[in-house]
Amino acid sequence: MNTKEELAGFVTLQRLLDRKSVLKQQIATPPEPLVQLRTSGDSRRAALAEKQARRGVLSAEQEQLAKEIEDLREEREHFRKQKSLVTTMKQLTAVVSELDHVEGQLKSREERLLAVMQELETLDADLAVLQRETPEERAAREAAEAAWEEQRRLASEELEGVERRIREVGRQLGPAAFERFKRLWNSRRPHAVVPLDGTACSACHAELRPSLVQQVRTGEELQYCDTCRRLLYDPDTVNPLW
Ligand SMILES: [Zn+2]
Repeated sequence: MNTKEELAGFVTLQRLLDRKSVLKQQIATPPEPLVQLRTSGDSRRAALAEKQARRGVLSAEQEQLAKEIEDLREEREHFRKQKSLVTTMKQLTAVVSELDHVEGQLKSREERLLAVMQELETLDADLAVLQRETPEERAAREAAEAAWEEQRRLASEELEGVERRIREVGRQLGPAAFERFKRLWNSRRPHAVVPLDGTACSACHAELRPSLVQQVRTGEELQYCDTCRRLLYDPDTVNPLW
């Protein structure tokens, strides 16, 4: 294999590796509209959990209040009966004071129970809304998931092809040249083999010596940028294998 063929092989590998990185990125990154649909589902579920927890607390309080109110009503009944049986002013004063106390307790609990029931009613209405993914939301999310699955499948298929092609080009280059490429790649990835940009390096934009530009154009030897040490090629003369 001569230098021109080796350079063409290296350019090919660089392009295949560029494509491989694009595909891997595509496979790993769900499209933004899908991310948004998923996130709106997540925040809805979080709000749902929070409201359900609050509902549990309120339900327990409601049950407790109902029991206390029932007891206080019995107590009130008891003092009312006592009131009808008193015979002295002193007894009457004592019973009335007890009655006032019970009435006060009853009133504050009844007020609280009313507030709890109102909040529960509001919560139940909110929960009914939150529990429901509208058919439109569901359809949009499922369509986006299916499209993403298909995109990923296609990208994975192409990625397999690209990886197979990288191995093939490696075999065409032979072990020694493939090893040279790997060393270069490992030290300068993700852009190890770069085209001239006029008379400059397209990677670091350094202006190249005229003799270097000339050597890159003839392509008889591998030439590297003096500044960034990347392998240079002339895009007008190199014929990649892919
Ligand atoms: Zn450079």
